[in-house]
Amino acid sequence: MKIVKTIDALRASLKEKRNAGQTIGFVPTMGYLHDGHLSLVKTAREATDVVVVSIFVNPTQFGPGEDLDSYPRDLERDTDLLAALDVDFVFFPPVEEMYPEGYGTYIAVESGLTETLCGASRPGHFKGVTTVVGKLFNIVQPDKAFFGQKDAQQVAVIRRMVKDLNMPVEIVPVPIVRESDGLALSSRNTYLTPGLRQEALVLSRAIQEAQRLFEVDKVREASIIISAMTDIVSEAEHAVIDYIEIVDNDQLKPVGRIEGDVLVAMAVWFDKTRLIDNTVLEV
Ligand code: AMP
Repeated sequence: MKIVKTIDALRASLKEKRNAGQTIGFVPTMGYLHDGHLSLVKTAREATDVVVVSIFVNPTQFGPGEDLDSYPRDLERDTDLLAALDVDFVFFPPVEEMYPEGYGTYIAVESGLTETLCGASRPGHFKGVTTVVGKLFNIVQPDKAFFGQKDAQQVAVIRRMVKDLNMPVEIVPVPIVRESDGLALSSRNTYLTPGLRQEALVLSRAIQEAQRLFEVDKVREASIIISAMTDIVSEAEHAVIDYIEIVDNDQLKPVGRIEGDVLVAMAVWFDKTRLIDNTVLEV
């Protein structure tokens, strides 16, 4: 496994592989890897000949006052985990390599997908994501890129960008990986005290209740499901709801009655930590 820090070096290595007829799979991450990330890597390993994982805490997707500086980092542990999964290249560029002085070009999806859900409380976040992912796609030129369904809105936004800008890459979504008690894995879970970690189980409990109401009780009114989820989250002493919404799985617009596939998505603050979770309900 090679750890590469410059765009030129990565391009040169990948050109050789591409010329030899090998397909390239790409997994973008911000590092501090857990089994959720590793599930993307394993899926890429099975699907493509060469696997590239990027580790880059992208400053343009963090808003003022967000956790850019405190975001957890551990390159040595990350590279050990990736080497064990037979990854070919880790791309670990310094910030100046991605955003040199004078940098001034951004990619923004403006179809309404980026202003709702997480976009409402994190203005500019998705513009940072699409900019860095677009740049990384240009650098790596992958055949397939792997993204976690944990960030369902991110998947929708990136699909839109790829379609609109005719990027020659297949986007492969990978299911959410959870702890055995239900909590969706996230690098930000490390911020939680043991007490808040326990309280955070209301997220997956609320998601499970949404699934039960939909599948067992056949509830189709979105407001009934949202209200049941709100009750569960409110049981946690320190939980502050950012949003709990049911939106159509394509345009991410709120639905009243569930008639097609929908995304049930939520974001909840536990003290200074904001956690997200979601599920897709299929009609
Ligand atoms: P991040 O390092 O948080 O930017 O995440 C990198 C990739 O890993 C994104 O595509 C995430 O959606 C994905 N990911 C993060 N957590 C999980 C999880 N629990 N299950 C599946 N994918 C995940």
